[in-house]
Amino acid sequence: MNVRSIGNAALELLYPPSLYCSCCGNVIDESRTYNLCDHCISHIRWDASPIKDIGGLKVLRCTEYGLYERTLIFALKYNGKTYIARDIAQIMADRLSLTELSYDAIVPVPMFAAKERERGFNHAALIGKYLGRLVSRPHVAHGLLRTGNTLPMRGLNPTERRQNVKGKFAVNEKYVKMLEGKSILLIDDFYTTGSTALECYDALRRAGAADVYLLAFAAR
Ligand SMILES: [Zn+2]
Repeated sequence: MNVRSIGNAALELLYPPSLYCSCCGNVIDESRTYNLCDHCISHIRWDASPIKDIGGLKVLRCTEYGLYERTLIFALKYNGKTYIARDIAQIMADRLSLTELSYDAIVPVPMFAAKERERGFNHAALIGKYLGRLVSRPHVAHGLLRTGNTLPMRGLNPTERRQNVKGKFAVNEKYVKMLEGKSILLIDDFYTTGSTALECYDALRRAGAADVYLLAFAAR
């Protein structure tokens, strides 16, 4: 922590984060939907397209990936603005309410344990925690485990991405009974080539999950 971050921490205590747009930082009032200013909310590319079946995995997206969507997720992931997880959970809950989708439990795409310790949180699990409360479903934060470290996906081509995550996910033994025969809502921030989501899907199906849906905040 440096002087600047102490200053920022003090500011956040004085001015609750909800008084600033979660995306651009402009001052807003408390009534703004998802804590976004009028400009940002009108520039986010909301996606209400139907569920897509990708190799058995059913994919539902909230937005189309772009500058505003990335800004929100990066502020949560890399700037530690964990309150944004609540706004994204609300967006996801609203997205789900537009569907007839039926699911029993929420499972986040896991991070490698050492990486999660380093960051201090798994952003997908944080979103899942709030989403679980909003939709009244159990959130199984460690339902899936990343069994090996992987390279960052950015900069890898689709084949390299598949290789990178192949066989690196498994259902946590503690939750096998709980998830067996259930319909699982897997959640993640981005959906790009789908290689991570498909590996998670395989792991859940191997462990006996009946159906797996992926709910992604933003997709290409
Ligand atoms: Zn804004």
